Amino acid sequence: MATLTNPSDIARETLKTLAARKIIPTPDNYARVYQEIGGAGSGAPGVAAPQAQPGGQEKPAPVWSRLIRDLLKQLETPHKGITLTRKRDGLETVLNKFAANPDALFEKLQALVHSWSSAPVAPGSSELVPAVLEPSAAAPAPSGSPQGVIKSIELTAQLRELLAQALESSLGAQPELADEIRALAQQARAAGDHGQVARLSKQLRQFWIKLELRSEDKEKIQEGVVRLLRLLVENIGELATDEKWVHGQILTLQEIISQPMDKRTIADAERNLRNAIIEQGFLKQSLNDAKVTLKSLMTTFIDNLGGLTESTGAYHTKIFEYSQRIRGADNLAALSKILDEVMHDTRVIQDSAQRSHEELLVTRKQAQQAEDRVRQLEQELEQTSELVHADQLTGALNRRGLDETLEREIKRADRQQAPVSLVMLDIDNFKQLNDTLGHQAGDRALVHLTRVIKETLRPTDAVARYGGEEFIIVLPDTGLAEAVETITRLQRELTKKFFLNDNKRLLITFSAGVALRAENEEAEVVIGRADKAMYQAKKSGKNRVLPAE
Ligand code: GH3
Ligand code: MG
Ligand code: MG
Repeated sequence: MATLTNPSDIARETLKTLAARKIIPTPDNYARVYQEIGGAGSGAPGVAAPQAQPGGQEKPAPVWSRLIRDLLKQLETPHKGITLTRKRDGLETVLNKFAANPDALFEKLQALVHSWSSAPVAPGSSELVPAVLEPSAAAPAPSGSPQGVIKSIELTAQLRELLAQALESSLGAQPELADEIRALAQQARAAGDHGQVARLSKQLRQFWIKLELRSEDKEKIQEGVVRLLRLLVENIGELATDEKWVHGQILTLQEIISQPMDKRTIADAERNLRNAIIEQGFLKQSLNDAKVTLKSLMTTFIDNLGGLTESTGAYHTKIFEYSQRIRGADNLAALSKILDEVMHDTRVIQDSAQRSHEELLVTRKQAQQAEDRVRQLEQELEQTSELVHADQLTGALNRRGLDETLEREIKRADRQQAPVSLVMLDIDNFKQLNDTLGHQAGDRALVHLTRVIKETLRPTDAVARYGGEEFIIVLPDTGLAEAVETITRLQRELTKKFFLNDNKRLLITFSAGVALRAENEEAEVVIGRADKAMYQAKKSGKNRVLPAE
């Protein structure tokens, strides 16, 4: 293998070799391998010649001059894909992170330079122009030489300046740490002796830890806020049934946001919110139970209403709709609305029912009155029937029927100037018949006589049962003689038409008085005269017909 002279090439080859041999790239190992590749005279970059160490141990001092020269050179060389900002960021990171450990800092800076130099140079780039170093410094100065020591001091100053600038560049990102950063930058610039550098290193380390913690805090705060928001959103989804709850949680969140956020406030807020959610969860369960009960109550209530009312079909339809809606309701607001509607409709129904009840009472009263009226009418009708109806036993007119007939026939007779005769007829020895054959036989005898009278007389003639076995016959358009003749013919007819009792022929005879109504003569007067004639017939031997005087 050809001996390499370019330090970058040697450095690159050194790293490769370290990697290939799986040797840990400590400064010592790096220096050893570097010398192995570059030759004894090459000197390891950043690694000084072995110096006497306390305790007899030997450790090579880092050669900062070459490192810083390489660093500046590569920093200002435009590389493809690596911007100056990125390089500064990388440098800043390394400086920040390893400031407390010079060996590590050296090693990391070396690795940084190597990574830059490995990238292709951007086209149009000029020759490498070291920013601070003189061009002749391209060749490594032998460590330990006076020139090297001076350059090392200068370069250390440069490095301190870089460190200070790197610190100051973070001012924008950490405004709240501005004072601290400025103080550290000032300390970095002023660090002249080993003790100051050591103190600075210690402070830088603490500062870095703080930065890490801060970024960790920010991350946690961010996570916490996200978690809170998620909780809130989920909670809103869960408890959207009641605005007040959501409102309360939004207030909680507003309170959190209004305060400077740190891990503690976030954790407290989260705990509070979780407690609120758990509590609200219980409430929600109770509310759900209450809603179920309410639903059940309302359904029962409505079912009962539906059962109680025999109102219109429209109301039944409404009831059914309410039942459906109650079963479908999933929040209090909806249930409350349905309840309002039900209450409204119920009031309407109650009013309607009240009116119906009142109407029913009126109707019932009217019906009662109507029923009473009907009964009264029926009674009147019955009485009227009694008045007009014929005698129950014989079918002849009763006394009232006789009165009507007489009134009618007398009027007609007067109007027509026609005669009207009245006959008083009394069965002879009827008491004996009753006594001999029984009362029922007597009844049948009365029926028999009436039938014979009707059969014998003209249809226009009328027969009425005046008393027990007394009859009055009205003979319109009949003079006295003709009337007497008619009744006499009736006598004969009775002798032909026997009354049969137990198949025994019985002869019924009667005595009769016949009176012709005189002009304007009252019916009662005429009847009286006929009765008188009838009495005369009795007296004169019965079974006789006598004209009245
Ligand atoms: P006279 O020849 O004098 O008329 O004698 P009489 O027995 O017919 O007369 P009286 O007045 O003494 O008796 C009438 C009897 O007629 C008395 C009564 O028992 C009977 N009688 C009256 N109405 C009815 C009736 O509806 N059915 C029956 N079976 N008997 C009656
Ligand atoms: Mg009599
Ligand atoms: Mg008699």
